[in-house]
Amino acid sequence: PQRDAPSNLDDKIRVCVRKRPLNSKERERGEKDIVHPTSGRSLAVMEPKVKVDLTKYIEESRFTFDEVFGESATNTEVYARTAKPLVEYIFGGGNATCFAYGQTGSGKTYTMMDTHNGLYIQAADDIFALLQRPEHQHLQAFVTFYEIYLTNLFDLLNDRKKLFAREDASQNVCIQGVREIIIQSPADLMSVFEYGNGCRSTGSTGANADSSRSHAILQIALKDMSGRRPVQHGKLSFIDLAGNERGSDRGDTADKQTMMEGAEINKSLLALKECIRALDLGKKHQPFRQSKLTQVLKDSFIGNSRACMVATISPNTANSDNTLNTLRYADRVK
Ligand code: ADP
Ligand code: MG
Repeated sequence: PQRDAPSNLDDKIRVCVRKRPLNSKERERGEKDIVHPTSGRSLAVMEPKVKVDLTKYIEESRFTFDEVFGESATNTEVYARTAKPLVEYIFGGGNATCFAYGQTGSGKTYTMMDTHNGLYIQAADDIFALLQRPEHQHLQAFVTFYEIYLTNLFDLLNDRKKLFAREDASQNVCIQGVREIIIQSPADLMSVFEYGNGCRSTGSTGANADSSRSHAILQIALKDMSGRRPVQHGKLSFIDLAGNERGSDRGDTADKQTMMEGAEINKSLLALKECIRALDLGKKHQPFRQSKLTQVLKDSFIGNSRACMVATISPNTANSDNTLNTLRYADRVK
């Protein structure tokens, strides 16, 4: 592999790509792995194509990012170069956000919210280690966990109570009545997470929408408890975004609900890209209001904020369109 200069872990915006391994079903179908990391920062997608005269050829697309994680990268390795620098940053009083973006089945949840070694729980280990330090004795960690489906917010820590985002006179966005739970250890966070995760929408029950069609937002806030009221110090958000695939790829009939979901997801992912770009460029005016997602994340796109995106991709031929869409999107974020 070629050698690229390492990316800067302290960049305001970092865009990383993670490829998952071929799974056993894909292997059984004889599918090919068409995604080849070519260095720690670049990869090539080799798409088999057929010309009109039936001659076969390979179309190669190359991309470069801040990091490319191959299929053998562990969550521990991914953490060290994605969310870990953000932990230190929130202790300095900033807001940081880590996004998992990609098609359903590409590894977003595995990366972000795997119950044992997802980025959120590794971050919690570091956060609680830092909270032990004498200079951080005035800080306390709080967690919120909610879901955005269409333009609705649901509190996963309060029985899917419907929530409303409001903007106050100084244009701060707050989510009224969202349940915040004090956590004292990574184990506390894990059990709160597991409770909330059990409240996520599931397509299989028919009662709620498919969870791949909603954004899940887990936030760990550090609050300064030394005054009369707690004051927010810094906040780290982990976002497991809705699948970015087109409705027609999901094998279901494009009914009205499905089309609405697809349109809303698309809108929010486009607004997200614009807001991250605007944060990078230090722009004053940002299109927060274009989606519920960007509206509730407003304070993560202004002032002292950082963002890290992990774009997750599937390696197999059948998903090449989604993989290329994900890579093109990620390519335009920074
Ligand atoms: P998504 O949340 O994007 O829909 P998941 O995280 O649920 O996708 O991943 C789909 C499947 O692939 C899961 O069974 C998961 O365990 C597996 N998987 C995803 N990423 C990896 C990886 N990097 N290494 C091994 N298995 C993975
Ligand atoms: Mg998922």
